[in-house]
Amino acid sequence: MRDTTEARREIIQTCLWMREQGLVYGTRGNVSARLDDGNILITPSKVPYEEMRPEDLVVLTPDGSTVSGTRLSTSERELHRGILNARKDVGAIIHTHSPFAMAAAARNEDVPVISEEMCQLIGGPIPLTKAFVPSHEHVKLGRMTVDSLTPANALLIRNHGPICFGRTLAEARVCCQIVEKSCLIYLQLLASGGLQTIADEYVAAGRDYYLNGYGKT
Ligand SMILES: [Zn+2]
Repeated sequence: MRDTTEARREIIQTCLWMREQGLVYGTRGNVSARLDDGNILITPSKVPYEEMRPEDLVVLTPDGSTVSGTRLSTSERELHRGILNARKDVGAIIHTHSPFAMAAAARNEDVPVISEEMCQLIGGPIPLTKAFVPSHEHVKLGRMTVDSLTPANALLIRNHGPICFGRTLAEARVCCQIVEKSCLIYLQLLASGGLQTIADEYVAAGRDYYLNGYGKT
């Protein structure tokens, strides 16, 4: 993504969209995107979404130094920075506190692949971070998140919430919706007493189709 006013507006629009979708209350969510020069464009801390202006966004280097911006970047910056550094295929990240994903994050296991759209948009089970870390321990939480990453495009931070990614912000937004819906269905299936998961070979084939064949056949 190029660092333009338009790109910054798309991030602000994504913040407003999170709230409209019921994925966050207040300013509890945050958004970032990888810039073409390798730096990270990220939302500021504590600025209400409806008051956020393009110049309130912050640019960080991959090692976390501030390049530009007068605001403090989100306190959850280490989640974004860690994932963008570890996953070169990721271009945008959205972290929400959506209710069904939060419920799944309070269990003790990954969310298995239970639908075709999980294969394509998420690309595997949604991993759960290995241990609880209080969110004010920013660096430790970032490290724990990176340690729990898989090739899937989402992750549940234990007793906290989901973090969803994509090559673009548009893809990350759809991932947020698929994660929330998948967690809702998963919890309902558990309550109903059983579920059928999709075999790994079909998960891999579905993901490959989405990345390489979708819209071409
Ligand atoms: Zn959070």
